[in-house]
Amino acid sequence: MTIRLYDSYSRSIRDFAPLEGNEVRIYACGPTVYDHAHIGNLRTYVFEDILRRTLEFHGYTVRHVVNITDVGHLTSDADTGEDKIEQGSRRTGQTVWEIAERYTQAFKQDIKALNILEPHVWCRATDHIAEQVRDIQEIERKGFTYRTSDGIYFDTSRLKHYGHLARLDTGGLSAGQRVDIGEKRSPTDFALWKFSPRDAIRQMEWESPWGTGFPGWHIECSAMSVKYLGPMFDIHCGGKDHIPVHHTNEIAQSEVCHGTRLANFWLHGYFLETDREKMSKSSGEFLRLKTLMDRDIDPLAYRYLCLTANYRSDLKFTWSALESAATALGRLRNHMDSWGPAGKPDQGFLDRFRNELYQDLNTTKALAVVWDLSRSRLPAATRKATVLRCDEVLGLGLAEHRFEAPDIPPAVHALVKNREAARVARNWDEADRIRSEISDLGYELEDAPSGTRIVQKKNFQG
Ligand code: AMP
Ligand code: ZN
Repeated sequence: MTIRLYDSYSRSIRDFAPLEGNEVRIYACGPTVYDHAHIGNLRTYVFEDILRRTLEFHGYTVRHVVNITDVGHLTSDADTGEDKIEQGSRRTGQTVWEIAERYTQAFKQDIKALNILEPHVWCRATDHIAEQVRDIQEIERKGFTYRTSDGIYFDTSRLKHYGHLARLDTGGLSAGQRVDIGEKRSPTDFALWKFSPRDAIRQMEWESPWGTGFPGWHIECSAMSVKYLGPMFDIHCGGKDHIPVHHTNEIAQSEVCHGTRLANFWLHGYFLETDREKMSKSSGEFLRLKTLMDRDIDPLAYRYLCLTANYRSDLKFTWSALESAATALGRLRNHMDSWGPAGKPDQGFLDRFRNELYQDLNTTKALAVVWDLSRSRLPAATRKATVLRCDEVLGLGLAEHRFEAPDIPPAVHALVKNREAARVARNWDEADRIRSEISDLGYELEDAPSGTRIVQKKNFQG
């Protein structure tokens, strides 16, 4: 079976195979750490986690790199406005370095709560200034830059295929030039290096061959992906909003710098939308994972919700959809708990599951296979083992999940002990009598090879 993935660059579903050997090299654009992640951002990281787990399920070794944007991302994607981190610093009174560290840690906690596997490499933009400067110098040497009073810009008109990823109509853009592009020669040109403003103090700035300043937003990804994955790697991913600007510009820079394509596949996650148009951090009001947890919703219920939609369709967020996801997850956990110890997985169901997933990560249908399986007539031990194997991709933490034991009264514990003694003495009548006494108190016993479990009876009214 081959994994098939939708490649945004060719706009087609293609058979996936690693460029080299058995290793898949993935670069995913990480968070801009000026505030908490909203659950929309997190949907993109869940999708990337499913991608990675699917590749690992297939037997590939994955090398997964995620960057932390802690400089250069301005409030407008068009290289104007204030640096988001500097703005965050003004908002909170903390230094930019404190802001970046605080929200990096918060992001790492969020992804842990969502059972998202940590990347093999985390890389911070501010730790790679020298690499970015070197790449800009190379692009300059090849004649693709020009200088304005506020920075060094990439001249997109010099690149024949500029904008292919987004199918940008660059001719149309410059013909109808109504937008104020300042000193830029064309609206699609973008900053590689920005000079520190003369009238304001920046906390983050560095010396460079062009003057004191800071890197543009896109160059960090070009510089760090080549450092950790080489000039051309297997898969580049991010949210779909990155297609027209950020990824388009990453491609332009990297192709000029290294003379090769940047990534073999481009995968883009669609958006989580709320009633209030699109969810955005800059609007100030947004849903965080903690907002859900404050309402006693398990973060993994949000993960489950993400899996109910395919990554290439927008997902409308509603509280009732989230509650349904929480109920479904609870039911699955209940089944798992009641099935006892795992036996051997069922190959037929595993193949069906794999088949759905390999069609461009169809988690909707893969989940349906899990539900078919749980309702099947296969032995409980087989069902359990098969679901556990599927969960290596779904990442719902089913292997680790333990129901919290209800507070069982000491009297019940004492009766259970007496029943054990009766069973050891083969006094079955006495053991049964004690069992019904326990039942009258509202508890049931489940005998499993690993021992006896005490379960509170549902809807018991003593
Ligand atoms: P940022 O921290 O703003 O750089 O965004 C982090 C990631 O979240 C990027 O890959 C974005 O494309 C993605 N993203 C932003 N908004 C949403 C949304 N509403 N739904 C899904 N992904 C999003
Ligand atoms: Zn990027």
